[in-house]
Amino acid sequence: MPLLKLTGFVLRTRSWGEADKLATFFTKEKGKLFGVVRGARKPQSHWGGALEPLTMLDLLFYEKSGRHTLTQCEIIRSFHSLRQPGPSGSASLYILELVENLTADEDANPQLFNEMERALRALEEGVSPLPLLNSFRLKLLTLLGFWPWLDTCVSCGKKIKGMILTFNPKSGGLVCPDCKGSLQGNLTIGEKTLNRTLSLLNLPYSEIKEESEDQELNEILVAFLGAQLGMEVSKVKSYMEKLENGQPR
Ligand SMILES: [Zn+2]
Repeated sequence: MPLLKLTGFVLRTRSWGEADKLATFFTKEKGKLFGVVRGARKPQSHWGGALEPLTMLDLLFYEKSGRHTLTQCEIIRSFHSLRQPGPSGSASLYILELVENLTADEDANPQLFNEMERALRALEEGVSPLPLLNSFRLKLLTLLGFWPWLDTCVSCGKKIKGMILTFNPKSGGLVCPDCKGSLQGNLTIGEKTLNRTLSLLNLPYSEIKEESEDQELNEILVAFLGAQLGMEVSKVKSYMEKLENGQPR
């Protein structure tokens, strides 16, 4: 019998057939993958709470004609504390949303898997959600090949320098003073914020503390995700509002 042993996070589940669920997993070995979970909606289902989004599991699938059916699973970590309402909980749901939306089916990215695990662990340990999300999004975009070089004009290729720079989300990077006039939706980005992106790309999550540039960087990332990758700005904004209005745990 073709069995497949994987490690993965539950991204979401939905009803499937009479009594089953279809779960979306992000696995270390095979990337995003769908799996049918037989009987998961029966009242006495033996799957229990294992299939709650965020849960990290050892998974055993039966694979036939490209379809995966979950036969067994064991919880590695439930990230239980992130299920409470509050900024860290909102941030963790946003991480699931980002990974689900920006990764392709069955495209393995073990580095991203590890990054996601580190980010969720750091949220559980109380690292401030806004700079953590900034760091996670920068790392995610870099790992997926989306984050632009930030030292040349994306329109004409000229080297860019200065204290106040212009970022054009639709063009996907910095633009020079000569080009910015002909473009719409420009955002200003301070040199300090640019330096902040570099430090957030390299810092481990445990060493991240919120700085004044994080708000500006968040706005740039939201606009970039919306313009380049079609990630609904309104949806992302609502996560961020929840995050800002939430009570600290
Ligand atoms: Zn230019």
